[in-house]
Amino acid sequence: MSKLLAVGTVAFDAIETPFGKTDKILGGSATFVGLAASQFGIQTGLVSVVGDDMPKAYLTMLNERNIDTSGVEIVQGGKTFFWSGRYHNDMNSRDTLVTELNTLADFAPVVPENFKDAPIIMLGNLHPLTQSSVLDQLSEKPKMVILDTMNFWMDSALDDLKQVIKRVDVITINDEEARQLSGEYSLVNAAKKIHEMGPKYVVIKKGEHGALLFNDGNMFFAPALPLAEVFDPTGAGDTFAGGFAGYIAKTEDISFENMKSAVIYGSNLASFCVEKFGTERMQNLTKEEVHKRLQSFKELTQFEIELN
Ligand code: AMP
Repeated sequence: MSKLLAVGTVAFDAIETPFGKTDKILGGSATFVGLAASQFGIQTGLVSVVGDDMPKAYLTMLNERNIDTSGVEIVQGGKTFFWSGRYHNDMNSRDTLVTELNTLADFAPVVPENFKDAPIIMLGNLHPLTQSSVLDQLSEKPKMVILDTMNFWMDSALDDLKQVIKRVDVITINDEEARQLSGEYSLVNAAKKIHEMGPKYVVIKKGEHGALLFNDGNMFFAPALPLAEVFDPTGAGDTFAGGFAGYIAKTEDISFENMKSAVIYGSNLASFCVEKFGTERMQNLTKEEVHKRLQSFKELTQFEIELN
């Protein structure tokens, strides 16, 4: 069975949207990546840290979906990473209200022995030094390393971030963050600058406006599926990244053509994530639903045109 190693946060989130508000619910970049990747019948190993305030039932729920949590350290007496955000009316932008690193502050990741040879590595949103440390522990050179990050780490650990970016093949990043990282307004120029930092492939996520894939001169665009109801966008970016990485792990084909399909799979899964608060929708997603929506994606973007 194909293997994916994913590092990121397993977190408590408190979310406010124009439609409602949650108390602390399960979230975190690794959680969303794992749930998305679980759709591909692969074995995903998570590396993360939580406090003993994290209910066992949440980890069991992940295990039931073939997600290995032996690399999720449980710190006795520690508190789990907590993030709180409030979405604006457009549901595309948000303010971070609270980021409490808690056990994440002195986390030293340990990659489980059976995942040190994973061919595909997803460095989910986390401190860049933690992301680097995961790469240092691998026993074999992976086929592909994908990195996801956010403005929080650009603001607080830019030099470390630049170091780890040098070591990856693909970066997934949202449009505002691509502009911040590159200092370029045009996304085409931003992708060019980010290529120069290391990654051969740059994926720029544009929320409800889809995602762009850049590789040197090649460019590909996938729309986001227009939805009648968007309930909570939290985790959509991580779900996209997990879907992208999960599909690459399943196929182990790292050609540009296959990466286009990975972008579509990622976008498709992200379209489910936003339909309910937190991880709820991703926990209950069936293969049939995924398949049906992929068909809608195809219809949305397929057209015939005669060029004279
Ligand atoms: P997304 O909406 O895809 O950007 O991801 C939201 C998830 O990222 C939430 O579940 C948070 O717990 C998690 N998160 C928020 N801030 C950070 C951070 N600084 N580092 C890692 N994960 C974070």
